[in-house]
Order: sequence, then structure tokens, then C-alpha cells
Amino acid sequence: MVLEIKFYGDHILRKKGKPVKTFGEPLRQFSRDMLAVMHEAEGIGLAAQQVGEALQFCIVEVTQELEKVPIKCIFDGKTIPQDLLLPLFLANPVITSFEKPREFCEEGCLSFPGIRGEVERPVGISISFQDLEGNPHTLACDGLLARCIQHEMDHLNGILFIDRMQKSAMLEIDDEVRDLKKRTIQQIKD
Ligand SMILES: [Zn+2]
Repeated sequence: MVLEIKFYGDHILRKKGKPVKTFGEPLRQFSRDMLAVMHEAEGIGLAAQQVGEALQFCIVEVTQELEKVPIKCIFDGKTIPQDLLLPLFLANPVITSFEKPREFCEEGCLSFPGIRGEVERPVGISISFQDLEGNPHTLACDGLLARCIQHEMDHLNGILFIDRMQKSAMLEIDDEVRDLKKRTIQQIKD
């Protein structure tokens, strides 16, 4: 199935995802379709809501070459090169702890084409999640990988990066965001 990216203004982006209960081939197929649309759009992460499904499922593909400094990546208790994890498919992910400090970094989002802004987030996280077969795992990481996972996991709860921006950052992109919303709503009507 060819999936379409949903843009800001589409109500699906505000929906909290239902838990993933069906694993195996249906989820593998969905993840392949999501990966294809993410690659096409040249993104590094994509949540189910962004392709029209309110599910607790997202994918992340932050390669080591995108990281500015070596990062922590502990998968199921073992330190591994993060590229071995990629693409990372997260079903029913839960953040189990945040690592201080917090830092600002510019983010973009495939549902907000061309719009970027500074978002403050904890530098590191620990999560638990299930893979495509339903097996449970844990991951502790920082760097861009941790930021991207937090951004995608926000989508699963209907939270968007503009919700986390400071007023000053939001003001800079306010017109573009309003414009995008208008266009999306018009497109849905047509
Ligand atoms: Zn996003």
C-alpha cells in the first residue's frame, strides 16, 4: 500500500495512538510501507499518525554519520553501534527515564514541510518497547537518536513539536504554520 504523509491541520495528528496488538506480517508490511514513504521524503523518523493511523508505532533511522559526537546506545543492556539497530521500529514505546540536562536543538517534521524550530528536550532517555514480532526490548541512548525518538513518541500521543517550542521560536514560524493548516484543511475538503 502506498501511504501518504499527513500534514498539520489534519486531525489525525492530534489523535493518541491505540496500542499495537497485532504483530508479525501485518505490522512488518506496515513498517515497510512507512519506511518507503519516509525515505521518499528524506526523513529520519515517522510516526503512524503521520500516515493516517492512530497507533503506538513509529520508526526512527538516525545513522551514526548524522551524529555530531559519539553517542550512548545501550540495547537490551549491551552497548552496541547504533547503526546495528536501524531502522528502529518501536511498537508501544514507553519512556522509563529521562537524562538531564535538557538542551535546545533545531527540529523539523515531515508533517510541517520546510518549517523548523528550536525545541528543548532532555539529552538522553531510556525506553522500553516491542519489536515487529512483539518481543520486548530496552534502549538507553542520547544524541540525535534520543531526540528523534522523543519527537516521534510525542506524535503517538498527539503532541507536535510546535507544542514544545518557546513563544519566541513559535512567533518566527507562526505565519507559515497557519498557512500550512489552512492549505491542509482546504485540501481535505477538496
Ligand atoms: Zn514529526
